[in-house]
Amino acid sequence: MSNTSNMINKSLWLSELGERKSRSKLHGAVDSDVVIVGGGIAGISTLYFLLTQTQLNIILLESDRIAHGATGNNAGHALTGFERDFRELVRDYNRESVVSMYKELNTSWSLLELMNHELKIPTEVTQIVDHGGFTQTDDLLETIQEQYELVINGVNHSLILVSKDFRDRDKIPPQYLDIVEFVEPGEILSRLETLDERYIAAHIYGPSALMISAEFTHNILEMLEQKFPHRLEVYEHTPAEQIKLFPNAVQIDTPHGNVSANTLIMCTNGYKQANIIDGNSGQEYLKIKTQISQIMGEVVAFPSKKQSYFGGYYLNPEHDLHKESYLYINRRKLKDGLYYTAIGGAELGTDIHGPYSDNHSLSQESLEKYQRFLKSTKYDFERSEFAYHWEGIMGYTPNRIRWIGPDTKYPNLYYNLGCNGIGLMQSIYGGWKLAGMLDGAKFSPSLFDPN
Ligand SMILES: Cc1cc2nc3c(=O)[nH]c(=O)nc-3n(C[C@H](O)[C@H](O)[C@H](O)COP(=O)(O)OP(=O)(O)OC[C@H]3O[C@@H](n4cnc5c(N)ncnc54)[C@H](O)[C@@H]3O)c2cc1C
Repeated sequence: MSNTSNMINKSLWLSELGERKSRSKLHGAVDSDVVIVGGGIAGISTLYFLLTQTQLNIILLESDRIAHGATGNNAGHALTGFERDFRELVRDYNRESVVSMYKELNTSWSLLELMNHELKIPTEVTQIVDHGGFTQTDDLLETIQEQYELVINGVNHSLILVSKDFRDRDKIPPQYLDIVEFVEPGEILSRLETLDERYIAAHIYGPSALMISAEFTHNILEMLEQKFPHRLEVYEHTPAEQIKLFPNAVQIDTPHGNVSANTLIMCTNGYKQANIIDGNSGQEYLKIKTQISQIMGEVVAFPSKKQSYFGGYYLNPEHDLHKESYLYINRRKLKDGLYYTAIGGAELGTDIHGPYSDNHSLSQESLEKYQRFLKSTKYDFERSEFAYHWEGIMGYTPNRIRWIGPDTKYPNLYYNLGCNGIGLMQSIYGGWKLAGMLDGAKFSPSLFDPN
């Protein structure tokens, strides 16, 4: 019988982080040009681009500690993707705007490099080739079509290896064969690191990387504090409780102090504790509360026997024809010299039992699901217990596309939020774009616009 009693209920990345500099609570009244609410990768990236590309003064409020939200509790797999199929997006919007949104997001790789370059000791960002595993014909055919569209539109690189034994190979329309290669079944299994012969295809794609976003976020902030001490104030354990919006100003009340600024940027992911109020009418502005939904995601990790970097996702891991189900896996070396495998994918629903409390345990159902999957791969997993497990909040906008830009009603309220579970690179891109907007740059309409 499996049990969870010896598992550390903390993110592996936060455990790795060790003691980092902490910052005081806000006491009294302060003011600045811009106030950022939220100190995860979105808030700190926005801060970075505002400080390096404008002359504005910034205050950042974090209700907990820097990088202890989703930024410290994710799977650490940097991707420039979305959680909606390309074909579905094209159905809902036009092809040109979907392609240009993908291309906008692809610029985040050079932004990440730029930020990392400024650090004395850069955060490790390891480029990897990613893998997707398929057991069902329908899933495979849909993915081939979608990836073909992405490749011909210059969005990414993709190759789909299909087993020579695949019984439905005639169903692959000939026009897509440019991105398909038929290989021996053993190659599929070896690429996917599985011995489970039900896998019929492996999707090989990129760009993709592994990074520890909590460490990156702390490193960037510490560098900014040294470089811009007169233009930056950061307060931890300081929740923005009540936010009043006026046409050219914003006032924020926190438990022991308040902030006045001209512009507000919400980098609050799926958290909704702030009350946002129209300063003149006193009416609550419910856009975040009513439109952003929260979902908990979970990850488990264990020291790996395999000693190499790896990234992949497995559609339908239970082979139950339930297309929405998937698991993702990645493996990397940490500072102790050991390799760790992280695995996640089960969304826990909207039952938020408090942000990252330490008093919940991994459900038996989840534990068994991960164990079943890992045993079916046979390569990496023999133990009955995982070493770490953790949870994090994912905030979803109604169309599952991040909001990056000004509010439609209050032009001095901006958003860089709505992580959608694939949000690290999106947070960085959002920070760069918002800094440009506040610096007067004009951008073409985009699907990232919050409307
Ligand atoms: C389990 C899980 C796995 C994931 N895996 C991946 C992955 O592999 N790849 C990927 O790209 N993305 C992944 N993500 C998503 C990614 O982690 C997020 O997109 C990213 O961290 C979002 O950063 P953020 O700064 O927007 O949010 P957060 O890091 O959550 O930061 C928001 C911050 O705002 C603060 N805050 C909220 N309200 C207030 C307030 N009123 N006053 C002051 N502060 C406030 C919070 O305390 C928090 O620190 C995953 C997410 C989860 C939960």
